[in-house]
Amino acid sequence: MKINRIFQIALLMELSLGTLAGAQATPVPDPSLEPHLFLTLQDFETRKAMVQHEPWAKAALTAVLKEADGYPQDYLNKFGLTRVTAPDKAAQWAHWYVCPETGTHLEFHPPNHNICPDTGKDYQDWPISDVHYHYMHDMLSHDALILGIAYRMTGKEIYAQHAAEILKLYADKYKDYPIVDNYGKQSNWGARVYSQTLNESIWLIDMTFAYDLVRGSGELNATDRAHIETDMLLPSAATVVRGHKEPTNNIQSWINGAQAAVGFELGEKTLIDEAIDGPLGFRYQMKNYVHEGFWIEGAWGYQFYAMRPLTETAERAKRHGMDLWKQEPALASMFHSPLGIVLPDGKLPAFNDSEEVRLYANAPLYELAYENTHDPALLAVLDNAPRTSKESLLFGVATLPESKTSLLASAVFPESGYAMLRAKNNDLSIILKFGPHGGGHGHYDKLGEIIYAEGQTQAVDPGTQLYGMALHKEWDQMSVAHNTITADELRQDQATGKLIAWKNESDYVAVTTSAGPAYKFADLTRSILVTNEYALQVDRAHSTDGRPHVFDFNYHNYGKQTMQLQTMPYSGLPNANGYMHLEQVRRGETIGNITTRFDNEGTVLSLDVLGGVPTEVFQGVAPGPHPAVKVPFVIVRRKGTDAEFVSLFVPHRGDAPTITAMVGENGTITVHGPQWVDTVTLGDVIRYHRSMPVMEKWHGRGLAHTHSASAGSLLF
Ligand SMILES: [Zn+2]
Repeated sequence: MKINRIFQIALLMELSLGTLAGAQATPVPDPSLEPHLFLTLQDFETRKAMVQHEPWAKAALTAVLKEADGYPQDYLNKFGLTRVTAPDKAAQWAHWYVCPETGTHLEFHPPNHNICPDTGKDYQDWPISDVHYHYMHDMLSHDALILGIAYRMTGKEIYAQHAAEILKLYADKYKDYPIVDNYGKQSNWGARVYSQTLNESIWLIDMTFAYDLVRGSGELNATDRAHIETDMLLPSAATVVRGHKEPTNNIQSWINGAQAAVGFELGEKTLIDEAIDGPLGFRYQMKNYVHEGFWIEGAWGYQFYAMRPLTETAERAKRHGMDLWKQEPALASMFHSPLGIVLPDGKLPAFNDSEEVRLYANAPLYELAYENTHDPALLAVLDNAPRTSKESLLFGVATLPESKTSLLASAVFPESGYAMLRAKNNDLSIILKFGPHGGGHGHYDKLGEIIYAEGQTQAVDPGTQLYGMALHKEWDQMSVAHNTITADELRQDQATGKLIAWKNESDYVAVTTSAGPAYKFADLTRSILVTNEYALQVDRAHSTDGRPHVFDFNYHNYGKQTMQLQTMPYSGLPNANGYMHLEQVRRGETIGNITTRFDNEGTVLSLDVLGGVPTEVFQGVAPGPHPAVKVPFVIVRRKGTDAEFVSLFVPHRGDAPTITAMVGENGTITVHGPQWVDTVTLGDVIRYHRSMPVMEKWHGRGLAHTHSASAGSLLF
């Protein structure tokens, strides 16, 4: 306690001396040192005036100042330090920071403990031992930026002094950090402050902006500035550009962003030119990596991740006379695509290497997009989020007009390969994915779907684990982990599917898509119809090599599964392609309907797969978005040169509505509800008609269907 108190006193003295020194410093009135990267002094005067008039802007500034005032104590507390210092070593990869036994993220307990919250175990071995440096570098660069903003918004010298302190700290140290990658090697995607050019680019962007904000303050003299520029900013830019053409497209966006930031800040034309017009520069990315507004990696996490440096680069370029918002309209389109397939709860699905992404949490980026485009569609996001971010403070328009756009409309994106089918009068929503693979972050999930109903996600995609976990490659990417069709217990190949038919009418929406070359020996198609009461799905598999194959309908739904079929424990599934992660597997056989339901937090998703042909059924549990929280699955297996699965999904609460489906001799499906009969054709052609017969009586659920085997020769 005594020691702590002495340190506290020392700290207070440092602070007050600092304040004193700050008060005495006279800012150099050199216009060439004024901020110019994003905002000029004149811009800051405008923002200050806005704070006076707009309550939201005042709240945003309060949030920034709260963070700024937390420095340095928040940093010291978090990492158990007594004075501000940057780590002496490069940080290790945050994806290592996971409990190997449970898949839960580790927690850092100062000074050097890496604790699994599930088991209490402390992991001390490299690389886990060096991951917390990542969070230290992150916090210092973020603090430098926040302090710089606080300085320009208040004029208080103490903030500039603290930001300058961080900048000088790294200028002193930067060149001493050796280059390392995630595996401790000196590869091209390794960096100095972090183990990836990606993370160092993110850090460098913030540090450059921080420098822009305080270089004209009295806290940095000419020697300090030269030290920061030549011993940190330029060498770090040189470090990150080594990674060009390296691993993924979003990383290249960050590298471009860092290069542009340093280039614009220091007037280095070669850096600017390469970042914007280079072979993998901003313009190239916009022309080649964005289709219908969707980022090429097909993962929402990475789309928004890429949008951060892309948006910032456009903003910086605009301040330097180059309006990329207008010249490269793909950038603005990236703000539209999420609106097309957002789920009713504001989340975007966990496709490819992504978790579910909360759209409204990305409102800070939409502030910049709106300021540049004044596109009323973007208000649908801005209206759903508080305007308290630093982005709103720095870039937001004074007042947002009232939004008139309805977010939730069905939509199809043929090139990027998404169909969003929404019921007209309730929240039943199905997203079908059939587009390009998605590069290194793609999953083998052609024709995969997510179903949302009754306020919850029902049919689920596991998304991704931290990449340091074996489960990521063994399960997350595998076809069997997705709600799709597989053949011969094999993983699908990388493939781009195709839109075959789409109808969006006043009372229903329906789609037919193919999986493209997902299997060399079979064609797969999936059709989905969504009405207000149910969804109907028809999956067709056709052998193209003339031989019979095993075709599986794989389905994963949150909740507790019950099935009207006797099943027995089974251990015959392969030990490969993800199947080894199916647990508590049971197997049954039937020629009748497969009737199952998933009770999911007060809601029910009833699923009937129509029978009529010999069918094997497997059920059990498998890893979900959190590997420790298992999700029930059902696999419905048919064999032959052709197989068809007609599935009826009925979401509800309480008693199940009586809805039954049957397939007629000509392939037409009739769906019988309490007061209506729907006649449906789902295939290359989509037809739908609802009639309301008055007096007819319907057979009970499960008895009313018949199934035609005329669709193909079904062998068992
Ligand atoms: Zn996936």
